[in-house]
Order: sequence, then structure tokens, then C-alpha cells
Amino acid sequence: MIRTITMAVAIGVMSNIVSAEERYDLVITGARVVDPETMLDQVRNIGISGEEIAIVTPEAISGADMIDASGLIAAPGFIDFHAHGQDPYSEKVSIFDGRTTQMDLEAGALPLSDYYEAKAGISLANYGASVGHASARLLLMDGVESHGSPMMTHALQKAGKTGNQWSVNQATDEQLDQIDDLVTDGIHNGGLGIGVMVGYYPSARSEGIARMARVASDNHSFLTTHPRYLSNIAPSGVLGQQEFIALSMAYDVPLVLHHIPTNALSDTKAALAMVDRGNANGATILGEAFPYVKGSSFIAAEILSPGWQERTGMDYSDLIWVETGETLTEETFNKYRTERPDGFFVMEHIKEPDMMAAILHPDIIIGSDGMPLVDDDGHSLPFDAPFGAGLGHPRSAGTFGKYLRIAIDDGTLTMPQIIAKTAYLQAEFLEPFAPSMAKRGRLQAGTFADITIFDPDEVNGMAGYDAGTNSLASKGFVHVIVNGHPVIRDGELNADVHPGEAIRAGQ
Ligand SMILES: [Zn+2]
Repeated sequence: MIRTITMAVAIGVMSNIVSAEERYDLVITGARVVDPETMLDQVRNIGISGEEIAIVTPEAISGADMIDASGLIAAPGFIDFHAHGQDPYSEKVSIFDGRTTQMDLEAGALPLSDYYEAKAGISLANYGASVGHASARLLLMDGVESHGSPMMTHALQKAGKTGNQWSVNQATDEQLDQIDDLVTDGIHNGGLGIGVMVGYYPSARSEGIARMARVASDNHSFLTTHPRYLSNIAPSGVLGQQEFIALSMAYDVPLVLHHIPTNALSDTKAALAMVDRGNANGATILGEAFPYVKGSSFIAAEILSPGWQERTGMDYSDLIWVETGETLTEETFNKYRTERPDGFFVMEHIKEPDMMAAILHPDIIIGSDGMPLVDDDGHSLPFDAPFGAGLGHPRSAGTFGKYLRIAIDDGTLTMPQIIAKTAYLQAEFLEPFAPSMAKRGRLQAGTFADITIFDPDEVNGMAGYDAGTNSLASKGFVHVIVNGHPVIRDGELNADVHPGEAIRAGQ
């Protein structure tokens, strides 16, 4: 942290040598600039040269291009650690939610080269992925290649034909060794941490999970997890979280705990307190949450294996089939689980006070867990498809806008604290592994010009659960700038630019 501030100050001094008369490529005037690292919350002008912020100043400056942002908040571009929807349509919808960096650190990808090649040159937002532990299991147990992100290449659908061995099998000793090698290779090919979504294969051998902590430790990486057990009763979601906190502390590897309320359910406050105590005792644990009481996954997921009603407190009537919007019955549940194992459903399983405790905790990051938005056949939509056409849980489209509305109206967090949870805490966590992140998540001279500019009175997530509203654009995000390029300007998409850059381990 000290090193980062020193560097930022040094770059700031260099920028000040440039005369105030210089014309910058782009100047944003009159914005209320919020920088969570320095706690700046003042009206400033921002000068951008190329892909970086050259100056943040109260002085008048001019540029070849000017944006008047009076009355708006300028924040560092939002960083989503949990964007499963890596297709162009889902990415477009998410840009309208202020997210200038959209990573999948939970499910991840394998091989990483396939993922990064698929995204290069076509991305509106910056992108990155963890090494997908589940993808290693898919390859070894079902013979299914993920070819990058398994959420995007229908790898899960293919595994349905081999009985989803990856989700129910225990690895052999030989497979554990092979997983170690695949994952190590993925880290060396840029994977941002190891994504261990063991919640989808809860009978996995504990030794195999512990090995991922060792592999992370040996290769200067970290763990992210969707832990075991979506359950209020033992073995509970909190117990699943304990497994990873113990590994994080034993092997001294940082940890991202995705969507804490999703697994901890009515024990969410205890789960949050455990993270706080771990961090107070020297751990580096970053918890995450989204501002919805409903969750979403694919219908063959282990969480819906027999006994799910007792474990989760839900029944068939709490499940919605995304493609049709219908509420499931025992009959349709069994039909879809057999015939469409990779189809998405939405479930109501989190209580409002638990969700609020998580999203308003000053150290818990906001992450969308946005599933890929799909058409009524379960396929990705073309980039040009209208807002509202995509089907899925509204968190894909509205997470950050909805969070800002709740946090601003709640009033207990300061604006720099509110913004830290959308950008700075994420960048600070990744910085030891991806040094370029020292220049993101901040709004300072010398950082990349990823800037989310929103109207604090208007901002909100507009996506809902009803058909036709799942993928409505968030409102209030007036300008969204990625690496110096306005991707959204005056509320309109500039589809001609694709300024998103790869973020990889070691770079
Ligand atoms: Zn998850």
C-alpha cells in the first residue's frame, strides 16, 4: 500500500511539470471526483492523454475533446470479479452498469490462451480470468475441453452427455497430479488466481482442494472460491467457507470468497464476522456480494441434488426457469434437470437483512455473478440485440447501479467508501499478482483512464425478474471511459471502439 501511494505521488509530480495550457486528448470538467485510495471527494477537472489520466486538478484545463460532467460523480471504472457473461451482448449490458473491467475469477477458464485469444480486440471492457479448477475436472473426468470459459463454450452442456462426472466424481491420485499440472500451467499463462468452485462438486476430495492452496502458494497466485454447501444445516455454507479460510491462512495465500450470502444464507452475519476476524489476524480475504435476494445457476448444479429442499429451505415454487419465466413444479424440475442440464434457473434463497449486511459492509466488494444473458433457446444474443432481450437473473445487468442506489440512500458509508467496494478494493487485491492493477481502481494522475461517470440522484439498476426486464440497462451511467476511450457518452453506446485490454497474472 505504501509503495503504491509513493508511486502515485511520483507520477503526479511528473504530470504537474506539464503546463496547464497543454491540450489534453480528452478533458472532463466539473465532475465530483471520488478517489477511494486518497479519499479525494472534490470537484475537479480531469485531463486524459492517450490511455492514461495525465492530471486531476481544480485549475481550468482544455482538451481536443471536452465532456462537461457538472453535477455528476467521476469514479474509477468499476471492476467486476465475477462476470460469467463474457459474450459481447452481456458485456455491452454490463458496460451500461459502469463496469469497465469484467473478469470471471470464479469459474475461470482453461486453457487461458483460448480465453484471452477469444477476447482480444473485440472487448469493450478490460477482461481476465482465473484458472478454472472445474475445467480441469471437466477435461479429465468427462473428456470435455472448455476451450476458454466453460460458461461460454457450452462445455457444461457437453458434460451433461457424460453424466457430469466432473460434478460427482472423486479424483484419482493420478488425476490430482494432472490437475496440479494443468492449473500450474494456467497460472503461468496469465490466469488470475485459481477459481475453485467446489460448491458445484461438493464431494471432491479435501486433499485435492488443499493442493490448490499449495499450488497457489508455490506459484505466487491466490484462491477464489464458490465454497461447498449451500445449506443452513450442517454441513453448512459457513462450514464450506471455513475450509477456504483455513487453507488461506495455513498456506498464506490470499482468498476471494464469492457471493458470501449465497452459501451462508441465514448465517451470513456470522460468515462476515469470520472474514473480519481472519483479516484482523493477518489473513487476506476479500468477500463479495451482490444486491439481490435471489440467486441463479444451472439446473444440473449439485445444490439441487436430492435433499435440496431441506438444505436450502426452498421448494419447487421458489425456482424459475429462465428461458420461459415459468415457476417450476416437481415434474418440470425433473424434466429440465434431465433434458436441459445446462439451462439456467433463478431461485429465492437469501433474506433481505443478510443481503444488506453484506453489500453495506465497508470491506465486502460488489460482484455481479452475472450469468451469460441468453435468448429463449439458451443461446448468446448478438451484440446489437436490444436491452431487455437477454434472459437471465437481473444481476447480470443491474448489480452496480442497484448497489449504488441502495448505498447512497442508506447513507452510512462515505462516497469514497461506496466507490472503494466497486473498484479500489479489487485493484488493491490483484496488484501483487497483476502489477498493472496498481494503475486501475484509482482516479489519479498516472492511472489508466478507466472512469465511470454517473448521476448520483438517478443511478439505479433497472433490470428485474419479469420477462422483458432481465437485461434492461442500468440508468444514470452518463459516460463510461475505458483506457481513455468513451464507450458510453451522454448515455449512448459508441460501438466503434473496443478499448478493453487483457489483464493477466505477471503483467
Ligand atoms: Zn458461484
